[in-house]
Amino acid sequence: MSLFSPPRYQAPFKPMHRDDITPFMKVFTAGEGMIKGVLFGCRMCGNCILQETAFICPMTCPKGLRNGLCGGATPERCEVDPSRPCTWHKIYERAEKLGRTEKLLEINAPLDGERVGRETWLDAVDTWKETEESPKFVEFFTNRSKFDHDWEHVFYNVRQPEWWQGDSEYHAPTYSEPISILEANLRTGEFVCTGEIAPPLSASGAIILKKVGFLADYVAAANFTDNASASARMGSLASSKICLDAGMEPVMQLQARDRSRVVIESDAMGAAGLGIHNILCLSGDHHRFGPGPVTKPDQFDMDAVQMLWMLRRMRDEGRYIDGRAIKHTPALFLGAAASPFGAYPKYEAIRAEKKINAGAQFIQTQPVFDYDRFLVWLEELDKRNLLDKVYILAGMIPMKSARAAHFMVDVPGVSIPKEIVARMDAAGDKDGQAEEGVAIALEMIEKLKSTPGINGIHFMAVHWEEIIPRLIDEGGLQKPSIRSLESVPA
Ligand code: SF4
Repeated sequence: MSLFSPPRYQAPFKPMHRDDITPFMKVFTAGEGMIKGVLFGCRMCGNCILQETAFICPMTCPKGLRNGLCGGATPERCEVDPSRPCTWHKIYERAEKLGRTEKLLEINAPLDGERVGRETWLDAVDTWKETEESPKFVEFFTNRSKFDHDWEHVFYNVRQPEWWQGDSEYHAPTYSEPISILEANLRTGEFVCTGEIAPPLSASGAIILKKVGFLADYVAAANFTDNASASARMGSLASSKICLDAGMEPVMQLQARDRSRVVIESDAMGAAGLGIHNILCLSGDHHRFGPGPVTKPDQFDMDAVQMLWMLRRMRDEGRYIDGRAIKHTPALFLGAAASPFGAYPKYEAIRAEKKINAGAQFIQTQPVFDYDRFLVWLEELDKRNLLDKVYILAGMIPMKSARAAHFMVDVPGVSIPKEIVARMDAAGDKDGQAEEGVAIALEMIEKLKSTPGINGIHFMAVHWEEIIPRLIDEGGLQKPSIRSLESVPA
């Protein structure tokens, strides 16, 4: 148990190779690890960002996330291990108390494997010595603002390696013409719909083609999940290509779980090369939610914020993370998920800002059943001036049965008011329940259509995709006006 952080979920790291570690460094590193272990539950990641995380070690998070909460985080507990609090909740709370909330906006780098398991204190001293404008102790008393500025400069160099250089600024895309049909439709200012399709459990693309058939005339793009709930299916890249070949634009979900940074770069580049330009970047569900057996720990090399930062730079700066130049840059319209109902809206807004700054151009939210709470989240985004920087697609799950409503009560990050569950319970037989689910969805569509800051709806009618055309027709929603990039007005 540590004094300032939740307990570690995974064991401390060890150095990848030790041939260059002297006996003195071994002793020093062990001492540093012991002290930081007691104080911070440190895992000796060797890439310390404690100053950015209110002195709580983010590596105690079961996913090892370094840039904020995951979608299932709640104030009460961690979604992966409910016996412990959410590390990131603790970080937000402490940052608020210490007046360090804005520090949470800096985009932290993924781990440099060469540094894991190694000491960082001597490293910080070396950086201090090497930095030209390092702070002078006397200036702490004589010129505090200069001292603070120089201190910040030194520690920025410590935590932000050359190959990453994360910041807390918004970076607008550097291209002008829309990259995808989805982007072109969103740019018109019309209310845009997208629809989710779960890839099949089998190797047959026929199911995708059938579902694409339901959606093709109604939505701007079909969105393919990427082994959601840590459960293997046909991959989202393959599913997206089948969809594209059938004449409909896909949104390919790309999650960080199970992928190293190399594979993320490679998959995004491959997708762009195949003509798949919409990519939704996700951290991914923990393996604990899959059918098992659970994989070895540390399946998260990156998080969604880091993916966005890396892919945006590949597109706009023409560089891989390792610095190699990209001759033909990938054309990517980048998206992210948001969870208005998991953590406190003010914390979720920080997380959304970080994703938008990193490169998210559109956001898909968790399903909206609790409209009032959704508005609170939107207000928090508005306070941070985010609504003009991103397109927001409100998530919608039409419920087919009362059982589905009860199931969603227990899903972390979903808020479903009791009255809605009661309505589904009172709806009678199977058909009655499905009709009630449609009625509830139509009522929500009516509200969302006229909500400022909302640019469309993302339907997640998994295994009930055929209901989407009805919802669009009866909800008075628009079909996409742009169906190919040739038809985009100059
Ligand atoms: S809820 Fe998510 S962000 Fe919070 S500690 Fe657990 S895995 Fe990490």
